[in-house]
Amino acid sequence: MSTAWRPHPFHWVPADGQRHASHGRVADGDSSRMLCGEYAVAFYGVTAWLWATCVTCNIAAHELAGVPMVRAGHLEGRSVGAEA
Ligand SMILES: [Zn+2]
Repeated sequence: MSTAWRPHPFHWVPADGQRHASHGRVADGDSSRMLCGEYAVAFYGVTAWLWATCVTCNIAAHELAGVPMVRAGHLEGRSVGAEA
């Protein structure tokens, strides 16, 4: 059977003013290499979840999850201006 639930192969990690993603869990205050290649220190404060998502991590996380990124042109006429 291949229908068993599997956890996401990445975790969101707020760090250094952006929401990055990492392959494994990163404890608060620990430094780890994010999917974008940057080393950052995790900070799980309330305001941290309001930070902007790291564009490179977002793309990498979508690829890991097997979910294609939605192109900006498909967002009902809105321009997200997220091109790197
Ligand atoms: Zn990142």
